[in-house]
Amino acid sequence: CQASTDTHDTSFRKDDLPAHGVSEVIVGVLGGGQLGRMLCQAASEMAIKVMVLDPLANCPASAIAYDHMVGSFDDSATVQEFAKRCGVLTVEIEHVDAATMEKLEQQGVDCQPKASTIRIIQDKYLQKVHFSGHGIPLPDFVQIDDLEGAKRAGDLFGYPLMLKSKRLAYDGRGNAVAKSEEELSSAVNALGGFDRGLYVEKWTPFVKELAVIVARGRDNSISCYPVVETIHKENICHIVKAPAAIPWKIRKLATDVAHKAVSSLEGAGVFAVELFLTKDGQILLNEVAPRPHNSGHHTIEACYTSQFEQHLRAVLGLPLGDPSMKTPAAIMYNLLGEDEGEPGFHLAHQLIGRALNIQGASVHWYDKPEMLEARLKSMLKEEGSESRTAVTPRVGIIMGSDSDLP
Ligand code: ADP
Ligand code: MG
Repeated sequence: CQASTDTHDTSFRKDDLPAHGVSEVIVGVLGGGQLGRMLCQAASEMAIKVMVLDPLANCPASAIAYDHMVGSFDDSATVQEFAKRCGVLTVEIEHVDAATMEKLEQQGVDCQPKASTIRIIQDKYLQKVHFSGHGIPLPDFVQIDDLEGAKRAGDLFGYPLMLKSKRLAYDGRGNAVAKSEEELSSAVNALGGFDRGLYVEKWTPFVKELAVIVARGRDNSISCYPVVETIHKENICHIVKAPAAIPWKIRKLATDVAHKAVSSLEGAGVFAVELFLTKDGQILLNEVAPRPHNSGHHTIEACYTSQFEQHLRAVLGLPLGDPSMKTPAAIMYNLLGEDEGEPGFHLAHQLIGRALNIQGASVHWYDKPEMLEARLKSMLKEEGSESRTAVTPRVGIIMGSDSDLP
């Protein structure tokens, strides 16, 4: 909560819930994209008020949020102003102003998860340093500052070599693969040059990508959702299969690694842990998101407590809900479109039409504005951003308990 007196105590005891609605506390969410929107949807069912901060007046969450402040979640003064209006501050995107969150915490503002977590996660290199320091298995990695350094890393790890931007990465924007030493400089250029802050990872020839949504309450209790398999198309999550078809030993190992990774971070909320399963049965951590995630959308229909409800419960100090599945299996398809008028958009509409004919399938529309360039430009304001403004907004997801979706 804020230090001022007009806020509420957010730490409930299980037997001490208010009589009207589950919480009087206003949850402030930095970011009003589709995840913010889905948080608002879950909140409305629980009589929880969610306010979002997003620069786009027509951001996906704006139509259903209790309130929407139009402004940048990466701007200190704006975030401070926003925080004054909420009882607890959380995020639906990690690329927010971590320094301001730290300052706000010192002033007594209740941030969940903690600013320290956001700071670690929003820099992928720092994330790797943090998790390896906590004994979490992950692909070998090293920072690179110049072409010589990149070549040394190539000699060390071999090719293909994965180059990554430390910051502002999502949906594969921020990754470049060099298949040989000759391709190093073009990979570096594709990422905007060394000034952006780059590192390399050893290529991991995984047999499956897995993900675990982990919830942590304000009392540090931890609850893990069943392990899912994620299938990416062009670095974007395309299909999620729940539960993952893996032996129980792998399931246990993946859950243990995810549990350990989240235990090393501070604050409440849901966290998505992306993992690689290797041929020899190892689980390596890829990255963690400190928020609901597209690998957890199936939880809306397929689990007793959706990841969005769970996030709200966690940040408000309410009891965590049951993460287990209430359907034997579920599958999530993520449909992509171009901007309106482009073929991709119509294709998405056609597929959604077909999905509606499948018993047990549900459609969730992200309601993304036509182009996300304004938001991207505000996020990628550093040098080299021009080459990365080509946008493919996600227009929707469909999910169902059947595997014969389109
Ligand atoms: P983003 O932040 O865009 O999700 P990730 O670092 O998770 O970026 O990478 C996107 C995808 O690229 C991963 O889901 C995986 O398919 C692939 N990938 C990432 N790192 C490696 C690696 N070290 N080896 C092989 N594939 C990788
Ligand atoms: Mg990822």
